[in-house]
Amino acid sequence: MTTQTEAELRSPFDLHGRCAVVTGAGRGLGRAVALGLARAGADLVLLGRPGSQDGTRDQVVDLGRDVEVVDLDVSDADAVERVGARLAADRQVDILVNNAGIIDREDSVSVTRDAWNRVLDVNLTGLFFLCQHLGRPMAERGSGKVVSIASLLSFQGGIRVASYAASKHGVAGVTKALANEWGPLGVQVNAIAPGYIATDNTTALREDPDRSRSILERIPAGRWGVASDIAGAAVFLSSPAADYVNGHVLVVDGGWMAR
Ligand code: NAP
Repeated sequence: MTTQTEAELRSPFDLHGRCAVVTGAGRGLGRAVALGLARAGADLVLLGRPGSQDGTRDQVVDLGRDVEVVDLDVSDADAVERVGARLAADRQVDILVNNAGIIDREDSVSVTRDAWNRVLDVNLTGLFFLCQHLGRPMAERGSGKVVSIASLLSFQGGIRVASYAASKHGVAGVTKALANEWGPLGVQVNAIAPGYIATDNTTALREDPDRSRSILERIPAGRWGVASDIAGAAVFLSSPAADYVNGHVLVVDGGWMAR
């Protein structure tokens, strides 16, 4: 009879002993993902704008996990470098979840360069450089997981959201590029493409009766998603269960893309 190793006896989704960094964890998908990771056993570092992570921090404490809050505007290049270097020096980050994101709903003919840059700076440039700073030690160590929140607009163009669609196509591209570079070093880089989820990001759509109805009609699940629908996928891609999953963009959309 063969004896099972300790690793074989653990749940493949167990995150005890892992440190996970989540950006924009104060509300919406980021909060749900942070709490999902904490329930799976991870300790957390919450990166976000001053004051906005406090409620999530308290909920992580209630779950019995360690948690640190670090102020960071992910569009601030100097701050990303400073925080990235500090975290890389002070702790072993096992998991990075790039969640922070913004959307600008506007006709393409009216988009200004400033508005374009604002979206790209948060959704793509900040994300890439956080990957660089926190992924470097993962690659040197030979283990780690990066999970970015992409979008259905990593595949589709959407309506009146050109900068957002460009940024989220970019997130899918960066995910695959980093997977190719870091996969051989033991780091898995994946993304989640949420469907239409009821958060502040989609308030305008839900308040427009025509858009709201036409979106709902295309979702085989027959409902909008809720933030907690994304947590399980994030736990999966952050866990040993996904050790052989790399460069993948996992759609969690109630079936939207199947139509
Ligand atoms: P949300 O409720 O609007 O949350 C956005 C989060 O990003 C907030 O925590 C916000 O922090 C943070 N954030 C924005 N700009 C930031 C910056 N410069 N620095 C640090 N944090 C910043 O929207 P959500 O739906 O949860 O969105 C989370 C992610 O999911 C985004 O990447 C979004 O594109 C993506 N997504 C959402 C949907 C959906 O249907 N909801 C679908 C596909 C993809 P503050 O609280 O400080 O503003």
